[in-house]
Amino acid sequence: MAKLSFRTDFCKGCSLCVNACPKNVLAISKDKINAKGHHPVEAVNPDACVGCASCAIMCPDCIITVER
Ligand code: SF4
Ligand code: SF4
Repeated sequence: MAKLSFRTDFCKGCSLCVNACPKNVLAISKDKINAKGHHPVEAVNPDACVGCASCAIMCPDCIITVER
């Protein structure tokens, strides 16, 4: 299982990473709000992550780090 980490306070909640993930690991939080006033991404199904890093590559703001 890969380890995911997020610079949550810089996420703008655009969903590009959510849509890029082939394993449905990520979702935009419905209840959290970050320092910039956005609903940030979170890992809702982290055990399914295969470490492909598609999410990190897709994110325009380099929010996601994937460690394998
Ligand atoms: S590394 Fe791949 S499987 Fe894991 S959350 Fe990112 S896109 Fe999904
Ligand atoms: S992590 Fe990046 S791609 Fe994903 S919602 Fe946040 S800003 Fe968008």
